[in-house]
Amino acid sequence: MNASENGREAGAPRLLILGGTNEARDLAARLAAHGGFAVSLSLAGRTRNPLPVEAPTRSGGFGGVDGLEAHLKTERIDAVIDATHPFAATMSHNAAEAARRAGVPLLALLRPAWQRQPGDVWREAADIPEAVEKLGSAPRRVLVALGRNEVRALEAAPQHAYLVRSIDPVLPPLALPQARYIEARGPFAEADEYALLTAHRIDALLSKNSGGEATYGKIKAARALGIEVIMVARPARPEVETVDNVDGVLEWLERLPHHSSPARRGV
Ligand code: NAP
Repeated sequence: MNASENGREAGAPRLLILGGTNEARDLAARLAAHGGFAVSLSLAGRTRNPLPVEAPTRSGGFGGVDGLEAHLKTERIDAVIDATHPFAATMSHNAAEAARRAGVPLLALLRPAWQRQPGDVWREAADIPEAVEKLGSAPRRVLVALGRNEVRALEAAPQHAYLVRSIDPVLPPLALPQARYIEARGPFAEADEYALLTAHRIDALLSKNSGGEATYGKIKAARALGIEVIMVARPARPEVETVDNVDGVLEWLERLPHHSSPARRGV
């Protein structure tokens, strides 16, 4: 994408999207279509082959709050959209503090958490070690839907047989007697999840309450099969203005002072 395609004409408000989610990609696409903003997107660099995004993209940490504050100033960022994953709480706290220090408005785009539905067999856990503990002492067959940087916690409970699904391979493999691995990136359809749970005779599912449709299929399939879900609750996030959809971001941007909105420019 060249500079003018991305709305980098002189005077266009400069937006930094903190990404790593489908919502961030959707937002970048919507802003690219509208024009009028100079958008850049930042990724943590966790996945080897991130999906393409319609915005110039940087990858890797900023170096804490100080590093992000410096970035906001050097890049003359006018607004920050925190569209990170609901579990990327460190980044969200850093962003809130850096934006406050730099005097840059910040909005969080956060998808709603999944809510327990009739038929769901859920046990809540405050964090991943607690979720692993809640699998219990008797051996179980567990589908693990966690980030590959989080699955080492499974080594505390080697009595279970694990099916570990992640986007990139878990390397080195876990020090566990019974662990199998699937590399796959969502979205995952309910029917496919049902087939997976059945084929592997899964009797417990370990999941974060990530929310969203792309990975909800496993929750619906577990409900249909009466499989217990150990659901890791979301971490605490900073208290900042928050919307739960891309339209809400666009409305917020319309209200930002001094911006050349697509509506005003007749786009
Ligand atoms: P985190 O714990 O919030 O962030 C740790 C550090 O990673 C941050 O302090 C920051 O480094 C860097 N970072 C995170 N997001 C960034 C971004 N968008 N741009 C630049 N740097 C970023 O997040 P995490 O370690 O990535 O993941 C925590 C949880 O979120 C896990 O459960 C993971 O599975 C889930 N998750 C994260 C992502 C993602 O894209 N990060 C995607 C899907 C799921 P500096 O302090 O150096 O700036």
